[in-house]
Formats: sequence, structure tokens, C-alpha cells
Amino acid sequence: MEIKVNAIVTRSVDYKDNDKILTLYSLEKGKITANIKGVKKPKAKLKFASEPFCFAEYILAEKGGRYTVIGASYIDSFYDLRLNLQKYYLSACVIDVINNLIEDGDEDTALFTSTIEAIKNICYTSNEKVALAYYLNYLAERLGYGISETACASCGEVINGRVFFNYLDATFSCEECRTQSYSEITLDTYTAFNIVKNAEINEIKSVIVDDGKATKLIKFLLYYLSVKTEVKLKSATSLNEFFAL
Ligand SMILES: [Zn+2]
Repeated sequence: MEIKVNAIVTRSVDYKDNDKILTLYSLEKGKITANIKGVKKPKAKLKFASEPFCFAEYILAEKGGRYTVIGASYIDSFYDLRLNLQKYYLSACVIDVINNLIEDGDEDTALFTSTIEAIKNICYTSNEKVALAYYLNYLAERLGYGISETACASCGEVINGRVFFNYLDATFSCEECRTQSYSEITLDTYTAFNIVKNAEINEIKSVIVDDGKATKLIKFLLYYLSVKTEVKLKSATSLNEFFAL
């Protein structure tokens, strides 16, 4: 049986002499694994379809629940991600999140669309940090870890001075109300979070967040996701090292 899926390659691992095993994140079937044959030969027609970030319509042959790529028509390769170190590290986080935090076969149209949108915004706009922060917050919500309130959880006031966050129940607190379960975060992180949380996906290009604040927000969201999911993302470590340069 043959099926068609719109998918992006999130992982590509060498297999046998000339083959690869791909992780495809698809609109129609969620995350699936597929074999692609002969792509390491120099003139292989489907070589492009085995590269990470290749976004294409894949034709898959299914046999006994296993997929083999038999054709692909290219939609986008997001080539520019390879030309800019910052974009490269930011987009690697998106791919890492898909590989490690999304369940196999978990089809979800809204999540797929947001993922592609995030990669597009990182690749083609100059607001790449905001694009990643928006996506990480959206993903946290979809995974059931949404940070719903930004006012102080005890007194209900908008926080202006020192800000504290409880990673367990995902609430903020002002200095007066905080208890021991709260850790201090920067006001910059809090300010940036409020802006990004209230933004709409179609306005990401033009949302203004100071570059340094956006960096702090990304670090905060990646750390928050790692606490909630208990998954340590390698890309988060690499990104933090890149930010520290
Ligand atoms: Zn308070």
C-alpha cells in the first residue's frame, strides 16, 4: 500500500551501506520512522529527501507497519538555516523537541502547522528568537504544561519588582507573597513572557522583544520544559553555550 504524507525530516541516521532511517514528522500520521534506500550513493535521486529539515510530500510504501520512502516532491529545505549560526541553533531546538517530546504517531494538525510555522519564522524572518519562544510556550500548552496566569498567584497583582516562579505548579509570585517553592527569575524574562504569551502567531514577525530579553525567555522556557518533561534536550545545552559566546 502506498500513502502520501507532508513531512519534515527531524532525524536521519545511516543504515547499512547506502540507506538511511528517517524520522519524519508528518501532518497526516504524526511522527513516523521510514527507511530510505540508496541515498548515500553519489547520484541518488532522493538524496535531498533524506536531509534533516527537508520538508516534502513523501510517498511511502507500507508493509507490515514499516514504511519505505519511494518518492518525494520537495516543498522547502530551509537552506538558510545552515547559513546563520543563530538560526541553526534555534531551529535545532525545534527539531529536538519534536524528536524527544512528541509521541510517535501522535497526529495533531495544529501542532504540526505551528511547528512548520516556527521553522519558517526562524528561517525567513529576523525575529527568530521570538519565533522559538512563541513555539516553546505553545508546545508547553499542548503538552499540558501551559503557564496560564502571569499575575502573582497569591495577591493577583501584576508584578513590577522582583519576580519569582514556581516550576512545579507553573505560577508566578511577587516578592511579598513568595514561599520557598518559588525561585527568582529576572523581570526581563517575565516581561518578555507576557509579550510573547499575548502575541498571535501571524504577528510574530513584528512582535518587538529586546534581544537580550528574548534570550532569557528562551532559556527559561527550555529549562521549564526540561523540569516538566524530565527530558534533557541536547540542543538546549548547545543553544545556551552559543548564547554565552
Ligand atoms: Zn503577590
